[in-house]
Amino acid sequence: MYIHYCRHCQRIHILNGHKTYCPRCKGHLTELRISYIKYVNLDRQERQTLREHCKNPGELLLLSAAYSRTQEYARWLSLPVSNVENYHTGHYAAYSQ
Ligand SMILES: [Zn+2]
Repeated sequence: MYIHYCRHCQRIHILNGHKTYCPRCKGHLTELRISYIKYVNLDRQERQTLREHCKNPGELLLLSAAYSRTQEYARWLSLPVSNVENYHTGHYAAYSQ
């Protein structure tokens, strides 16, 4: 089970597997890096706080599983995360030319 946030519904969805689209509105989901076990153990107030953070696009990025994977990739390469981001940006620029 994985925790996803839909910014269209402004809801957190617990889904079976890594999903891309919201089962409710078909909008694009963001998978959060919080684990299912951790999420289910949050109390009502903590879940509310998490949802508030998710409403902010900058904070949502920091909470997302994709951001976490970027950091792991950086650690694997022993590089600061900013270098990896530059690498991705450079890669994208190469494709867009
Ligand atoms: Zn939705």
